[in-house]
Amino acid sequence: MTAPYRDILQEIRLAFPQPVSDPIHDSYFVHSIMRALDQVDALKSHLPILGALVPGDFAEARKAALPEGTSSVEAVTSDLVGYLRGMTIFGHPRTQQNVVPPPTIPSLIGAMLAALHNPNVAWDEYSRLVALAEVEAAGITARLVGYDPEQASGVFTFGGTGTTLYGVKIGLEKACPGTMQKGHSEDAVLIVSEAGHYCAANIAGWLGLGTDNLITVPTTEENEIDLDHLGRAAREALASGKRIAAIIATLGTTDAFGLDDLQAIAALRDSLVEEFRLPYSPHVHADAVIGWAWSVFGSYDFEGNPLGFRPRTVRALAGACRRIRHLSLADSLGVDFHKTGFAPYVSSLVLVRDGQDLQLVTRRPEQMPYLYHFGDHRPGMYTLETSRAGTGPLAALANYRLFGERGLQAVLGHLVEMAQLLREHLEGHEGTTVLNRDNFGTVTLFRAYPPGVDTFAIKRREFEDPAGRDSLLAGNDFNRRVFDYVHSEAMEGRGVVISSTDCYRRTAYGEPIVALKSYILSPFVDEGDIEEVVARLLEARERIGGSG
Ligand SMILES: *Cc1c(COP(=O)(O)O)cnc(C)c1O
Repeated sequence: MTAPYRDILQEIRLAFPQPVSDPIHDSYFVHSIMRALDQVDALKSHLPILGALVPGDFAEARKAALPEGTSSVEAVTSDLVGYLRGMTIFGHPRTQQNVVPPPTIPSLIGAMLAALHNPNVAWDEYSRLVALAEVEAAGITARLVGYDPEQASGVFTFGGTGTTLYGVKIGLEKACPGTMQKGHSEDAVLIVSEAGHYCAANIAGWLGLGTDNLITVPTTEENEIDLDHLGRAAREALASGKRIAAIIATLGTTDAFGLDDLQAIAALRDSLVEEFRLPYSPHVHADAVIGWAWSVFGSYDFEGNPLGFRPRTVRALAGACRRIRHLSLADSLGVDFHKTGFAPYVSSLVLVRDGQDLQLVTRRPEQMPYLYHFGDHRPGMYTLETSRAGTGPLAALANYRLFGERGLQAVLGHLVEMAQLLREHLEGHEGTTVLNRDNFGTVTLFRAYPPGVDTFAIKRREFEDPAGRDSLLAGNDFNRRVFDYVHSEAMEGRGVVISSTDCYRRTAYGEPIVALKSYILSPFVDEGDIEEVVARLLEARERIGGSG
């Protein structure tokens, strides 16, 4: 008689892909995936969400417990699909919400293949050619941003935050050598712009620099780091005996696509080294997790415009390129394929211009007795992570192969074209005003005003003159209500899902400016969807304005 557990085991074995080819079981596997996709498809309607919004009961969720018996592939599949209810369909033409792209089919297949055979790219022994895929994806990116691919080196890590963490950690080792061993006692500062990502604060905290040592520099009206302020802040820090762990240049801020002048920042850094006779060169990290993709326009013939973009689009693309083309001046930089690269989460790459820099964070083999005794490729010697998935590298590589340079140009160009069109429409109405008019990205920030307000004069008064404070605050409130209206309409299938920000930037006298935000990242967005945004806004303005 066989042990009872054997029956259970037999059932469970069927829930794994078979280790030895078994065509009948293989088709069961494929079929199971298709059933999952069919069920997801059944959730689609004309709305930009899957199924309906179901509020999550988080208190109830806490009470979940492990079931006693086994279940089936079919039952688990239906159960899991249920968790997608209410999800925004990021590829939907009526979704203009945030910097979340729809992933392509090849990138999904890349992620699935990696999940299926579970390579760990810490070590080629555990990932074989998937480790090579990571190196290729890094090499393509290095060449794209203008690094010497022979010199540069990179690894995929846990998000854009991870990429900046690597950059700052390497910079900290340069500024305060031996920190890896001794910890650090010296005061080191980290510098970023006010419009830079809040992950800088997190990183300062987690690395032990302390958030008190994070210097946030004001930005210009274009949301670029103010270079005079930066110079002053850096000199002040150095003069008081502090060291600069890193300067983060943001190329593509999250909310407004501000692009820091990396060329000027690198030049400033060089002059600081001379001026203060520094024994190290302050590390410049480019947080380009959003802007990196614009590198594909580095070779674009803007005059000839072979892809036929509209003049406003060409201007915006060339404007972005003017900053992005200097990415190679950064000592390290971060790329999110899960943002402007149309890959699923998490697919982030940190690149260092000089691969030798990674030596600064490399552990000694004795510290990892059970790993890395042989093999040719061992990024696990210096990565923060131990296990690293092959999903990010395969998804990224899939999209590089799928799009090529021209495909990325076409997709990004279209998104910029749609954003420009939206701005044109918004500027064509007296009730709406665009806040980031001269910006080059795919995000548009705007405000609506009640009927009867002179929107031509109001921007200046509200943003610069403290006497405009009451009007600004009333406008903030008004735009929150416009947002609520537009959002609930979109959830009913009328209009477009946009988002809002509580602080697009501060006024000259320090008040936060609330703005409505359209973030276009779906290749499916077209002119009609743009007109719909404006129509809904004007409607909201009438309704809310009318009711006081
Ligand atoms: C999104 C974003 C980050 C954080 O990246 P994650 O991938 O979400 O960790 C950092 N910097 C900028 C500019 C971003 O837009």
